[in-house]
Amino acid sequence: MTVSIWQQAHRRRETAYDVIVVGGGIVGCSTAYWLGRQQPSLRVGLLEAGALGTGASGRNAGFVLQGTHADYRSDMARYGERTARRLWNFTRENRDLLAAELRGTAFDWRSDGSLTAAGSADEAVRLRSSLSHLRTAGASAIYLDPEEANDRVGASGFEGGLFVTTGGVVDPLRLVRHVAAQSDADIHTQHPVRHMHWRNASVLLDTPTRRFRADRVVLALGPSLPDLVPPTSAVVRPVRAQMLATAPADTRHVPVPVYSHRGGFYVRQLQDGRVLAGGGRHQHRDAEETSTDSTTPAVQATIERYLHTHFPWTQSLSVEQRWSGTMGFSPDGRPVVGRVPEHAEGVFATGFTGHGMGYGFRMGRLLATLVGEERPQALELFTVSRFEDGEASTDAEASRTEQG
Ligand SMILES: Cc1cc2nc3c(=O)[nH]c(=O)nc-3n(C[C@H](O)[C@H](O)[C@H](O)COP(=O)(O)OP(=O)(O)OC[C@H]3O[C@@H](n4cnc5c(N)ncnc54)[C@H](O)[C@@H]3O)c2cc1C
Repeated sequence: MTVSIWQQAHRRRETAYDVIVVGGGIVGCSTAYWLGRQQPSLRVGLLEAGALGTGASGRNAGFVLQGTHADYRSDMARYGERTARRLWNFTRENRDLLAAELRGTAFDWRSDGSLTAAGSADEAVRLRSSLSHLRTAGASAIYLDPEEANDRVGASGFEGGLFVTTGGVVDPLRLVRHVAAQSDADIHTQHPVRHMHWRNASVLLDTPTRRFRADRVVLALGPSLPDLVPPTSAVVRPVRAQMLATAPADTRHVPVPVYSHRGGFYVRQLQDGRVLAGGGRHQHRDAEETSTDSTTPAVQATIERYLHTHFPWTQSLSVEQRWSGTMGFSPDGRPVVGRVPEHAEGVFATGFTGHGMGYGFRMGRLLATLVGEERPQALELFTVSRFEDGEASTDAEASRTEQG
């Protein structure tokens, strides 16, 4: 596309902010929100390539769960008990902050609990043995035997389940838009950042139609972070997730979100009776290591088979919608936060590994603190330096059965 002399003059005019957040998903919008709360005098701008919630944040199942994608016992084995407990508490804070800070009716907030259902006897053993550790960590959870677990969510074939009373659900797109609206930031949608030029004390950000300048930058780009910071391709990779929605059922059988098969599948039922289901990626791993936004017959058939097996009453419901989204996966399943190499005025957060609604709002507060030059304690849980220090297990297998 050519550029006229008038457009060129417009482009050269810089719009300046103290802080620019790039990325209008849950993490970027939450960062803008918390910057306004923590440092109201700052001028904050948010640049988003498309519309708010264009990425995974506007395409997910809306589960706001605690912990990571894995069961608590697995987290303890992998990260150590202290880190597992801190991760749980971080996501618990995320849930509590959502409930306390925001007007829940603006994004259909419901917190009636969540069920992690066991898809196998082995998973049931792991979930049951997580219970005492979770309680020690302060979690409010009970273990349900197979009959109770299935009855509670109108299901069959689950081997038991862990019911966490603080699990919740949202309309994720409305949440993102609400958080952005509650922030004091100037929101610039349809502004993809193509280049960043790092100057001595500021950063220039070029979009196709405008140039922006900021003293500090927060990059909340999900799986697209390596486009602007290539070295981060070592810590985040794109992974596709697919979902479907059925026509409304007459009865509400599933009152709480259900997460099963080690996060391989997930189901919820909306107030109007429609059933949302997703996952199945673990049975099609190679094909889903992509950022292409499209559904595939193979994964969709896997989701339908799961739904019809464990929720047989869905067999008569037609599928009304199918969609996909791209998530950023980290090498060890934990989010990754750091400073842009050689440019300390830029910070980033990525790699939410299918669980970003469980972290996002609280993560925005952490990033806002980090921009304020403080080093929040919780940063230790997510710091990119764990890969440099070799502390992190980068066992790809272990991060393969996650939600999303
Ligand atoms: C189908 C599906 C189901 C899921 N279910 C759940 C769930 O139930 N619970 C849960 O916790 N998690 C779930 N997830 C994962 C969750 O959606 C993500 O972890 C979370 O949304 C990540 O948020 P984010 O803000 O980091 O990234 P994103 O939402 O990806 O936001 C990044 C934004 O940056 C923008 N951007 C990219 N490049 C540029 C650029 N150069 N310039 C400007 N803007 C740019 C993008 O357009 C995008 O809007 C699911 C994901 C999918 C796809």
